[in-house]
Amino acid sequence: MPGTVWFVGAGPGDPELITVKGRKLLEAAGAVLFAGSLVDRAATLFTPEGCEIRDSKEMTLDEMTDWLIDAARRHGTVVRLQTGDPGLYGALIEMTRPLSAAGIAWAVVPGVSSAMASMAAAGETLTLPEVTQTVILTRVAGRTPMPPGEDLEALAAHKTTLCIYLSITLLHKVQEALIAAGWAEDAPMLVVQKASWPGEEKIVRGTLADIKRKCQAEKIASQAMIVASPTLGAADWTDLARSKLYDPTFSHRFRKASVTTENTK
Ligand code: SAH
Repeated sequence: MPGTVWFVGAGPGDPELITVKGRKLLEAAGAVLFAGSLVDRAATLFTPEGCEIRDSKEMTLDEMTDWLIDAARRHGTVVRLQTGDPGLYGALIEMTRPLSAAGIAWAVVPGVSSAMASMAAAGETLTLPEVTQTVILTRVAGRTPMPPGEDLEALAAHKTTLCIYLSITLLHKVQEALIAAGWAEDAPMLVVQKASWPGEEKIVRGTLADIKRKCQAEKIASQAMIVASPTLGAADWTDLARSKLYDPTFSHRFRKASVTTENTK
């Protein structure tokens, strides 16, 4: 019986941000194929002695799936370790299909995506009551074109939180799209490079108008998350609507309202 190939989300970089399940799989792994520069520490920190460890940086997709299939024929537990969550820009299905075709079982363990890690690093929130309740995870077209209806200008028209992956070298396109969608030049923007990496994380705050210049000044050209959101900076606002869930007048499944509306302003 061949083993199982586990597609494990390593999280955004800090090895402590892998899930307990992901770590247990690494500890039991006979072979690990990890995704380039971002997740090498987790791969080497948690794997047992004698585990075959290979960086996939220079491999083609076919070479990777061949390697995983071969490893699964020799080991019970094989891990493909990916940055963030494997289901976001992770070529997951391209890799699982050849495994299924070869009769190899596979499963996915989710991970902390870099959008969440970036907002956490900056002490920001993705949603805020009465401000936005929606998050769009997207990118701008690079070598991969955007499907119809998904260009950033159209998505930005919703004025929700936008977490933009894979686009730091295309920041000018982000600026153009948001301006075209009606965002103000002084709308707050956030860029986080290497979120959660001890000692290497960089947080840049700016506006739609000046974020590119600020990133250039910080020499940020890779491994960065761009966030545009009407929630940015809320920690310092004076007029903030409180979350209805914690409002004393609001009953829900786990708590009965303790105060009636008449008693509160
Ligand atoms: N599956 C990954 C995304 C892979 S695509 C995830 O869920 O996070 C690679 C892009 O992710 C990069 O271009 C960058 O936009 C973002 N990224 C990955 N790690 C990051 C980190 N530690 N800090 C900021 N952005 C990161």
